[in-house]
Amino acid sequence: MFRIGAHVSIADGFAAAVEREAELGGNCGQVFVGSPRGWAVSEVDEGDADAFRDAASEFDVSPWIVHGTYLINLATPKDDLATKSIECVQAELEATATLDIPYYVFHPGAHTGAGSETGIANVAERLSELDIPDGVMILLENTAGKGTTVGKRLPDLNEMVESSAYDYDDLGICLDTCHLFAAGYDFGDEAVMDDLVTEIDATVGLENVHYLHLNDSRHPLGSEKDEHEHIGEGAIGEAGFRRFITHDALRDKPMVLETPENEKGFAWNIETVKHLYAGD
Ligand SMILES: [Zn+2]
Ligand SMILES: [Zn+2]
Repeated sequence: MFRIGAHVSIADGFAAAVEREAELGGNCGQVFVGSPRGWAVSEVDEGDADAFRDAASEFDVSPWIVHGTYLINLATPKDDLATKSIECVQAELEATATLDIPYYVFHPGAHTGAGSETGIANVAERLSELDIPDGVMILLENTAGKGTTVGKRLPDLNEMVESSAYDYDDLGICLDTCHLFAAGYDFGDEAVMDDLVTEIDATVGLENVHYLHLNDSRHPLGSEKDEHEHIGEGAIGEAGFRRFITHDALRDKPMVLETPENEKGFAWNIETVKHLYAGD
């Protein structure tokens, strides 16, 4: 069954987030468990977690995924920022486990001058320091490659996993279409789309990609700029999206949108993706 949803707010509680998702036409979804631009992680109480589980099952919205705060930087050369980041990820993982959400995704971070190799090694080392709760898998998200961010190339993500104390049982990958495109991965025709799938399989492995972020890109191929656009209205375009989401290797993965929240909104984007998926 095709699983498509959007990032929704938990401002009115976790159960309300499920209802909101269903209203938008989504049947899977993503949430933050704290402020996306702060370090504070809300502890989830058992009652709220129960209400969330009941709503998710009643509305048939799953799987869910938690997105880590944007401040996390496991690639940093600075010890204090690394410690803060590890503590924040750990708290977010506990919240994810309490909610029985199977996936937690975060951006690996930026090396801020220490060099890409050091940044990748830092991520691996700090992943190893985490205590990943049973039933939760951490997904590393590919980045657009802006500035000194690490995780732009697929072999880099694979190295973060392979050099850590964990393996692909506890770690996995979340691919973002806007970030792939900004990093120079094209899906402009069948041949390049097949090349991309071949590279995914040869590096992180297709079976280790557990979730997809669907966002069109405001900027051209290889721009390294991370600015999302409505599906079909950016540089990837409708044809590129149709190719990506209907590819045999990817069509069964759950997908969530992080498109701009302006006049079009998530309901329009979910509807657009459903049409593209169905081939109309
Ligand atoms: Zn993300
Ligand atoms: Zn992005």
